[in-house]
Amino acid sequence: MLQAEAVVDLDAIRANTAYLAGLAAEQSAATMAVVKADGYGHGAVPSARAALAGGAGWLGVATVGEALELRTAGIDAPILSWLNGPGTDVGPAVRASVDLGVPSVRLLEEAITAAKAADRTARLHLKVDTGLGRSGATPADWPDLLVAAAKAQAEGTAEVIGVWSHFACADEPGHPSIAAQLAVFREALEVADRHGVHPQIRHLANSAATLTLPEAHFDLVRAGVSIYGLSPNPAQVPADALRPAMTLRARVLIAKRVPAGHGVSYGHTYHTAAPTTLALVPLGYGDGIPRHASSAGPVLLAGKRRTIAGRVCMDQFVLDVGDDPVSEGDQAILFGPGDQGEPTADEWADVAGTINYEIVTRIGARVPRTYVGA
Ligand SMILES: *Cc1c(COP(=O)(O)O)cnc(C)c1O
Repeated sequence: MLQAEAVVDLDAIRANTAYLAGLAAEQSAATMAVVKADGYGHGAVPSARAALAGGAGWLGVATVGEALELRTAGIDAPILSWLNGPGTDVGPAVRASVDLGVPSVRLLEEAITAAKAADRTARLHLKVDTGLGRSGATPADWPDLLVAAAKAQAEGTAEVIGVWSHFACADEPGHPSIAAQLAVFREALEVADRHGVHPQIRHLANSAATLTLPEAHFDLVRAGVSIYGLSPNPAQVPADALRPAMTLRARVLIAKRVPAGHGVSYGHTYHTAAPTTLALVPLGYGDGIPRHASSAGPVLLAGKRRTIAGRVCMDQFVLDVGDDPVSEGDQAILFGPGDQGEPTADEWADVAGTINYEIVTRIGARVPRTYVGA
């Protein structure tokens, strides 16, 4: 193995996707694998291929740059790109048959202008804000967006493929906003119908709703974190059928004996209690290891769970392994599926005060991804 690496299990991504696509299929819904942010840190192209092999019919990304990376790799599945702001050149995406999510009249008009210049029909998914308070037209602004879309459809410059929205609290089953957002979404679909906008594909569900809310599956579910084997909320949304795809590991760079009372790492926030062995692990916040995990992050080394001694630095941190026989080159596992007793991304999220999404997504470009499985 390399000095440090994120091992990505493509069989796990494929199997997780197959499981989620099975849930969606029970509601006659298709499955979009969300591979934004470099596939939540797992690598967009390999993750996309594994998800397609597992039965995803669509891919979802934020930016057109992310969509074009998939097209350049030769992936020809339907792709939706949903976060392109004013002035973004969406022309290359339109030419590459990438669908665009549009939340406002202005962005709809920019998509149409690009489509006209490319002599293509823009494939649009109109986004309604059903309560998240993020992107999407408010119910008050929704009719204007529909009027503009219907006009473009009549002119042949755009085709409304989808109408969609996004949940705020689907990871808290029973949260009252869930039913409220569903009701607003259904109403928005009726309003669209009255404006002559008849989308083929209505979509609302993220991972949490895919796992817990069949009535929100509509025609397509957008599964992100779950295809990588993580639960959107481990405390409330059990996802035992899923297998975490990423294992982050590194080799001990130096192991050395030090006396009692030795300060460790910047600020000397940790001191050795007795003569002991310190093991240096070459991963730090420059690689996405949260500095908030200083004196807290769990690591498996030499068959035991250890806790980071002192501060996480930019490129490295230290473990105090006592008198255990640890040598240079030994493998330290920060997180993985848990099979070997290693911590999970969920545990790292807990100690760093964040969510598993952020733990895997922020693993930096300096850490090579190595792929196992088909
Ligand atoms: C990121 C994202 C998703 C996927 O969410 P998960 O919770 O990871 O499943 C779905 N839809 C939109 C609009 C997103 O931004």
